Amino acid sequence: MGHGLPDHDSLVARDARHVLHPWADLSTLGTQESLIIAEAHGIEVADSAGRTYLDAIGGMWCVTVGYGHPELVEAMAAQARKMAYFTPFGDVSSEPAARLAAMLADLTPGDLNRVQFTTGGSTAVESAVRIAHYYFASRGQAAKRHVLSRVNAYHGGTYLTASLSGKSADRTLFQYESDWVHHLESPGYDPDTSPVSAAERLDGLVAGMERAIAGIGAENIACFVAEPILASGGVLVPPPGYHEATLELCRRNDILYVSDEVVTGFGRLGHFFASEAKFGVVPDMIVTAKGLTSGYQPLGAVIVSDRVAESLAANADRDKPVFSNGFTYSGHPVACATAVANIEVMRRDDVCGHVLDVGPYFIRRLRELRSSSIVAAVRGDHLMACVECHVPGEDGPTARNQALARRVDAYCEEAGLLVRPYENLCIMSPPLIITRGEVDRIVDIMADSLARAEHDLRTGAVR
Ligand code: PMP
Repeated sequence: MGHGLPDHDSLVARDARHVLHPWADLSTLGTQESLIIAEAHGIEVADSAGRTYLDAIGGMWCVTVGYGHPELVEAMAAQARKMAYFTPFGDVSSEPAARLAAMLADLTPGDLNRVQFTTGGSTAVESAVRIAHYYFASRGQAAKRHVLSRVNAYHGGTYLTASLSGKSADRTLFQYESDWVHHLESPGYDPDTSPVSAAERLDGLVAGMERAIAGIGAENIACFVAEPILASGGVLVPPPGYHEATLELCRRNDILYVSDEVVTGFGRLGHFFASEAKFGVVPDMIVTAKGLTSGYQPLGAVIVSDRVAESLAANADRDKPVFSNGFTYSGHPVACATAVANIEVMRRDDVCGHVLDVGPYFIRRLRELRSSSIVAAVRGDHLMACVECHVPGEDGPTARNQALARRVDAYCEEAGLLVRPYENLCIMSPPLIITRGEVDRIVDIMADSLARAEHDLRTGAVR
């Protein structure tokens, strides 16, 4: 790996001239010098110039069993040879989709047994909201259409899911839904930096949600959509008891609880799904994507409780009984075959057990970085974490704090480590197969990069 492509320069030029990247900085449009990732094996990737990097981003929170896993690659190829695609609409299915649906029903808690496949996380969250709307409208409660989300949530890039997202940096010139989407307070709690106890914080969050429900009226609310740990919003971990308390409020007010496990599912927190195993809640719907195929194929799914699914069927419009939601590539056979292989490998190799061992080590080692004067906080749980950078005495994502984090990120990249910059954070979610030795390598490079950025700050190079 890492020999470089002969046409590296022309690839960069073609990218700069023609690609409008997702979530890219428009001020560099046309001049961007994109990192073109050309190869990936295990937990390392190589760019088109031949440089190799340890991937602490895990693709994008999604790589579970590492890159180039022969069993996943073979499953993809075998399915493509056998039957690459056919419509999933109506009463047509495929062998991998049927097998995967049964596996997901087995992996999810309670009576979550009915799967609607989609093409990724956004389309799965969007589908969950459509299911919630249909559920209530078909029961004669069409007014129950409002949706509760949280500040700092991230639920996707379609218009509705972007409306549900609550990251202020993303709320720019678009026309987001606002009359029926509501953002509750961001629920993060960091015992290292919070001035209040976890119990006080929990009380405040629950009281805020109760007030919001009373203000909107429970009779107008369809669902609460929540990541168990907010990922892209900055790895925000709610205080203990938050998940049970919010579920309880939903139950009391007949609000469907949708757990967005796009990031927290598939082993990142040491369980196939974290909702029940880690947080003690059985939601009405769980949304998954990303790690479902280890990122090898685009795929998402909403796993719906039998209670909700049976109600959809029992109360469907008799004249128009079609549930009109789905996509050409919903449950794509090659993607489903990849997911089946991924689950088989993860089970056989006890990848979740490995995360339960290496995850706490990762967090413990990262927390050592708090000794740097430019580290404001280290947050996370198992294999999702972030290092928050600051100019000492300056809080939040100020321009200088963001510049500092970008510098740390650039030094990491120079040293062969990819971390994900977001505002003043360096976000990490490595492939789940990472070893303790590789964790040490990440921490060493981070420590060195922080020291270099700290030096730049002292010498006035960061403004
Ligand atoms: N939900 C969460 C929690 C996510 O992190 C993401 C993607 N980062 C999505 C939904 C959207 O998934 P996708 O990009 O596959 O549409």
